[in-house]
Amino acid sequence: MKTDYDIIVVGAGPAGSIAARFAAEQGASVLMLEKDRDVGYPVRCGEAISKAGVSEFIEPDERWISAHISKFALISPDGTEAVIEFGDAGYVLERRIFDYELAKTAAKAGAEILTRAYVNGLIIENGKVCGVKYDYRGQQKELRAKVVIGADGVESRVGRWAGLKTYIDFRDMECCVQITASNINVNNETLYFYFGQNVAPGGYFWIFPKVNGAANIGLGVSGMVGKKKSALSFLNNFMEQNFPSAPILTSIAGGVPSSITLEKISAPGIMLVGDAARQVNPLSGGGIASGMIGGSIAGRIAGEAVKKNNPDYILTYDKEWHNRLGKRHEIFERIKNGIYNFSDEKFNKIAHSFNSIPKEKRTLGRLFTTALVNQPSLLVDIAKVFII
Ligand SMILES: Cc1cc2nc3c(=O)[nH]c(=O)nc-3n(C[C@H](O)[C@H](O)[C@H](O)COP(=O)(O)OP(=O)(O)OC[C@H]3O[C@@H](n4cnc5c(N)ncnc54)[C@H](O)[C@@H]3O)c2cc1C
Repeated sequence: MKTDYDIIVVGAGPAGSIAARFAAEQGASVLMLEKDRDVGYPVRCGEAISKAGVSEFIEPDERWISAHISKFALISPDGTEAVIEFGDAGYVLERRIFDYELAKTAAKAGAEILTRAYVNGLIIENGKVCGVKYDYRGQQKELRAKVVIGADGVESRVGRWAGLKTYIDFRDMECCVQITASNINVNNETLYFYFGQNVAPGGYFWIFPKVNGAANIGLGVSGMVGKKKSALSFLNNFMEQNFPSAPILTSIAGGVPSSITLEKISAPGIMLVGDAARQVNPLSGGGIASGMIGGSIAGRIAGEAVKKNNPDYILTYDKEWHNRLGKRHEIFERIKNGIYNFSDEKFNKIAHSFNSIPKEKRTLGRLFTTALVNQPSLLVDIAKVFII
């Protein structure tokens, strides 16, 4: 191992691996540090992603695709199911393998990877980040770099150490719990989303099918709700009522930052990507695809900055991210605040109106139109998503 690198990436999740790969592809020397023993494990994710979100970065491969998704079922509080068919739209992944494969693409591009390397501080000189401090198998070490990319997930500390404002209002931090259970009798091409006060107030409940009758079952509720009633108690109620004897294979808890992106995601010598930068889609809570997009922009720009020998060039990252997805996320956030405040009656009414449309016309667009009739103030925000 060298003592200094052009670029050091902290965290080997999807955002970190893609950042490392895109930086290495620019010819920069890149090291990615991961605190856990294995890349891709433990998994804290529902693992659903659109086909387009995957294909932009890696050829879809059956080894890490657990289910092919062609339908969404939106279930209102009175049990009415509004189903939307999409064709070949997305996947439920095996992230243990997917994340690992992404890291391998970074390695193939020339990046070095070190696991069990826990970054616990930054080297900062004259206000510029110049490297990382880390613990490796009980030994404290340091490495210098021209750029450090913080890809250290939702609990990120790298940004804070660098002096970036990483605060997120607890109302925007979705408290999530999820189990992977077996013997779940649902359609294996459908993602199920449940809404309402009894299942997930201020959020949604999901069942995402996996191979051989397994499924990821979980929910996210706003931090406001989670303070009063735990997400776990909603999950336990649901399982008792619907799948009382399903064997449970895994169980996880975690936060999803369902907010807009941080005000600043770069500063001298430092860039943030993925959950660390709050690049999650605030409406869906999905962060795999958007994290990879953030990672690709940051990695390429960091590599170019090294090539141009222009450290300030990394500061162009904020604008490029904002134009690609950040602006869109601001609108999604406003739509989320509208939808998640719907009453149970409103959800029921939307589902009933939607189901009265002929089956072949039940598209996502029609569902939005139906929602709009019930909440016209959403119109402006939704229109912007398609115009901007
Ligand atoms: C319950 C739940 C369900 C979800 N479901 C979905 C879904 O269905 N679809 C979707 O798109 N998104 C989903 N998400 C969100 C998604 O998991 C994240 O947005 C995504 O993993 C973010 O990728 P990332 O690379 O930014 O961070 P992560 O995947 O969290 O990777 C961060 C990496 O950094 C490492 N790390 C952290 N600190 C350090 C350190 N100090 N030193 C070294 N390494 C460090 C971690 O070990 C980890 O490997 C879900 C989240 C939760 C909690």
